[in-house]
Amino acid sequence: MSEQEGMLAQARLMSPESIRIPDRMERAIQVASSGMVTGSEKDGFLVQSSSGHRHYRVSRGVCNCPDQSPRCKHVLAVEMLLRYADHLAQRLGCDPPKRVEDIPALEAEWESLLRECAGYKPPQPGMLFGFGLEAVRDDMAQDDIDREKYTGVRYPAAIRTPIPWVAQILGLCPQYEFRRQFLRGKKDYRKADKRFRRGVWVYWQLPAGLYEAQEVELAYPRPVGNRFFFRVENQSIRRISRKEVIACLRQGSGSSSHS
Ligand SMILES: [Zn+2]
Repeated sequence: MSEQEGMLAQARLMSPESIRIPDRMERAIQVASSGMVTGSEKDGFLVQSSSGHRHYRVSRGVCNCPDQSPRCKHVLAVEMLLRYADHLAQRLGCDPPKRVEDIPALEAEWESLLRECAGYKPPQPGMLFGFGLEAVRDDMAQDDIDREKYTGVRYPAAIRTPIPWVAQILGLCPQYEFRRQFLRGKKDYRKADKRFRRGVWVYWQLPAGLYEAQEVELAYPRPVGNRFFFRVENQSIRRISRKEVIACLRQGSGSSSHS
């Protein structure tokens, strides 16, 4: 037995569940990706057994297979496929398919959109457009950064104070939807209050192109970040929808007029 196998066996004895769950996850991924699942939320899902001889039925998150665990690999596989379908539909701006069998068609649509947008070239930079967002509760955001530096632990986005950001969209991305380049802004404290709670602004100098940004809105217990898209063209800025961003990427150039 290698040292690694020995450690694994020891870990298994100490904490059987923590080893079993990823294992089940892996089997669920196999089930989900091999086309063994059919059906819909309304009619229930049928999952072919690994031997191929019978089908198990998953309905409202409950499976009729002999596995006693509350979430067997069949339930997990169905959950994964539904989430994947939602994800793809969101990217394509359509409703998720009713039946799992329709996922491959959606996948093909996304792939062809990726190909169509591959030729996008951001417009020539030219004159820059000055754009600013308030860093609402910059004091809290700085506290987070200091604490992360001190502890070496990066907080999950859900509990970190949001900061304003601007990213230029350069195309579609299989993983993150949009291929983006985050741009460094310049902080301006001239209008800030003593504690930097309000009035700290961040400014960017933006060339013509498509952008995604996050503005920060005051809320309790911590501010919230709202994302939006916009386009800079002819020294002016216009908010646009996700759909319009994709339309611009398809056209091949963010500078062509859309009106
Ligand atoms: Zn099952």
